[in-house]
Amino acid sequence: MKCALVTGGSRGIGKAICIALAETGYHVIINYKSNEVEAADTLAKVTAKGGTGEVLQFDVTNKADVDSTLDAWMQSNGNKRIAALVNNAGIRDDALLMWMSESQWKNVLDISLNGFFHTTQKLLMPMLTGKFGRIINIVSVSGVRGLPGQTNYSAAKAGIIGATKALAREVARKGVTVNAVAPGFIRTDMTRDLSEKDLVKDIPAQRFGEPEEVAALVAFLASEKSSYITGEVISITGGLH
Ligand code: NDP
Repeated sequence: MKCALVTGGSRGIGKAICIALAETGYHVIINYKSNEVEAADTLAKVTAKGGTGEVLQFDVTNKADVDSTLDAWMQSNGNKRIAALVNNAGIRDDALLMWMSESQWKNVLDISLNGFFHTTQKLLMPMLTGKFGRIINIVSVSGVRGLPGQTNYSAAKAGIIGATKALAREVARKGVTVNAVAPGFIRTDMTRDLSEKDLVKDIPAQRFGEPEEVAALVAFLASEKSSYITGEVISITGGLH
């Protein structure tokens, strides 16, 4: 059975990705950090669509937690293989660099960039030996062009973009693809405090995107049909560049 692990699958974009991947036939492993209720809601939505899945709690910033949880999962699921990994967990904690605290800098990088390293390193070997893998990293327009007030977030996402391109070259001949998806403004808890009315003036599509629109792209990248696409950063922004 082919499985997909989605970090931060309890809410927002991650929730929509879990549902979309389940619809394409993946058994979905829904990771979350603390929101057990929303993780259970994602699982309920996956099963309501006729899919299968399970929830798996761990903190992507904690290498020991990631290693022990995934080792235990692999040991007790010998007949299943994690063939797709979506590194989606992320936070923003904006401030002008001048006023940014060390913890604001470190936390944002820890979740996005170190989280990517912890999960990807753990799951790469089984993908290589199975000669099939799909690694999809959710980055941001902020990491592509840089946004004021987000030096921490832009640095984290730009770091993952570099890692995406480098890793894609390392593993392409083994049937493992590595791509990044860079959303613009998407309607989730993360953007709830932003003024959509003001920000849409800069978005050619004149609206925020929906998590399901990002999920559809991720589902394609996680499929066998995307086998010749690797090392790419694909923007999904309603025309905002
Ligand atoms: P949400 O705030 O809605 O959800 C964040 C998710 O990340 C939650 O499931 C949360 O789990 C999980 N998470 C946070 N920290 C950890 C951790 N340490 N370990 C494991 N899971 C964790 O975010 P979005 O859905 O908006 O964002 C998802 C991704 O998309 C992020 O990487 C974000 O940077 C990126 N993105 C979002 C955009 C947007 O406009 N919304 C635009 C561009 C990129 P829990 O529920 O347990 O707290």
